[in-house]
Amino acid sequence: MRRVSIFGSTGSIGENTVDLIARAPGEFRVVALSGGHNVDRLAEQAIALDAEIAVTAVPDLKQRLADRLSGSGTEAAAGPEALVEAARRPADWVMSAIVGAAGLRPGLAAVEQGATLALANKESLVCAGELLLRIARAHDAAVLPVDSEHSAVFQALAGEDIAAVERVILTASGGAFRDWPIEDLVRATPEQAATHPNWDMGRRITVDSASMFNKALELIETNEYFGIKPKQIEVVVHPQSLVHALVGFRDGALMAHVGPPDMRHAIGYALNHPQRRALPVERLDLVRIGRLDFREASETRWPALRLAREVMRLRGLAGAAFNAAKETALDAFLAREIRFTDMAAVVEETLEAMHRENALKCDRMGLDQVMETDHVARERAAQVVAQIRTDA
Ligand code: NDP
Ligand code: MG
Repeated sequence: MRRVSIFGSTGSIGENTVDLIARAPGEFRVVALSGGHNVDRLAEQAIALDAEIAVTAVPDLKQRLADRLSGSGTEAAAGPEALVEAARRPADWVMSAIVGAAGLRPGLAAVEQGATLALANKESLVCAGELLLRIARAHDAAVLPVDSEHSAVFQALAGEDIAAVERVILTASGGAFRDWPIEDLVRATPEQAATHPNWDMGRRITVDSASMFNKALELIETNEYFGIKPKQIEVVVHPQSLVHALVGFRDGALMAHVGPPDMRHAIGYALNHPQRRALPVERLDLVRIGRLDFREASETRWPALRLAREVMRLRGLAGAAFNAAKETALDAFLAREIRFTDMAAVVEETLEAMHRENALKCDRMGLDQVMETDHVARERAAQVVAQIRTDA
């Protein structure tokens, strides 16, 4: 039986992963599951999958989790260190589906023990791609992309020579405000931003889709994971979200990955890799779909895309600063402290300040530097948020 762990099991990616594991009784031994606030659901999952250990990231919720698990045989643990400990437990396959930079350390611990890492947590690659991939190589651990676009590129590249790749095209739905007049964006509310036209995802990534910060993270993720140069990576708006990404080769061929907007495809692909096994996803009826549309992704409407290019130019610790500033700006927007359109300004000013102070350079990335950069960027970004509130 393959030993599997799921970090962030109570989230959107986590639930889809639990669903696939639950459909294959007898094939997997579940080692660790982790969640945050939703300990009731975490305990339910742990009991249903007979997990060895369940960990909540929130220390205060340990007792509640232990109560829910009493008599089940599943151990209860809590806190960020317990998450890392759980990721060190021997496993063959580990899903990294915590949201935000908090997913980095459990993912690193998983590759350090040589587990295959199914990586939904794109923030790990954005903040510390060089570090994560270096440690994975040193421990002979495979890292498989789960983000739908990157899974699509990975599949299009199977059996191909990476040197023959001319360009990668990432598609973006355009999010909630795709068709809004640009001047209305200043009035966009968190509730409006948290509705996605096609995908059912966690709240944070859904708002990031509306601002295109999600696609910005994915540009950096593509650059880090595949080593494809920034100028070879394009973004197009594709309202139907059926073509997940395309890879263009030097002979002019363009290989597209097409499928329904259901993350169980990308998760299942990573779970079964290198095999392709049957998955419970909708089969597309092309005649019913009829057409696929593509539009330009404007950097005026979505400044996050321009900022991602700046991060790829700066490299070093710029990704860690970018992500931390973005997380801080997103929190401030969700708390109604700043406007939707202020998020990009918060990130840009944070990056500029840290670049001026020479705080984004590094020769050989280490975890301490990444954590320190994350910390400083959050403080800087909070100052920018405070300034915007004073000016308003
Ligand atoms: P959700 O918000 O739905 O779930 C996040 C998970 O992480 C939950 O289990 C949550 O626990 C837990 N969590 C939240 N904060 C912390 C923390 N500080 N420490 C430890 N655990 C925490 O997110 P998604 O499933 O949407 O996204 C997960 C990751 O996958 C993100 O990196 C996202 O960018 C990426 N991704 C998601 C896609 C999707 O379709 N949803 C598509 C592609 C990538 P709890 O809910 O119990 O508090
Ligand atoms: Mg994606």
